Amino acid sequence: MEQTIEKLKEQARKSWSGETGEQRARDLETYLRNKLEEYSNALNIPKEEILKSWEEDRTYSAINYYQESNQPSIKSDKVKVFETVEEMLQAIGEKKFRCPSCNGISTNPYSCNSGEEMSKGKTCDWKVYGLLGDLGKGTFIYIKVKLKGETIFTPISWEEVTA
Ligand SMILES: [Zn+2]
Repeated sequence: MEQTIEKLKEQARKSWSGETGEQRARDLETYLRNKLEEYSNALNIPKEEILKSWEEDRTYSAINYYQESNQPSIKSDKVKVFETVEEMLQAIGEKKFRCPSCNGISTNPYSCNSGEEMSKGKTCDWKVYGLLGDLGKGTFIYIKVKLKGETIFTPISWEEVTA
């Protein structure tokens, strides 16, 4: 794990010259150690395994990957932790999800297919993995057996009842 952290720091250091690079390396290390501590405690999974799963998942630069949007605070309201995929599917129930853009109901948790017309002839096709993500309205789900977390449209069944 220490080797991986050193490697990531080196990448951050090289991303910018001089003191800025150094600062980036230090910031990344602080971020990583805090997140690993938090995730490890909350999930009861060794830090080494969590870091390994993140590195396997990461397809772009460490500086851009290790960000709050990809590793949200595991105790926040928008995070739900499950042991298995089956447990998650059971909790979701009917496959209906709230699109953050059109507010319609999508049967796909990542890409809106509500059929809501946003402008003339243009139906909503909002993507949760797009540039603007979930507009702060999605849910981050974490599956423990898979050591994987991702953001999806919030299932209708999880919406707070405010009647
Ligand atoms: Zn939509």
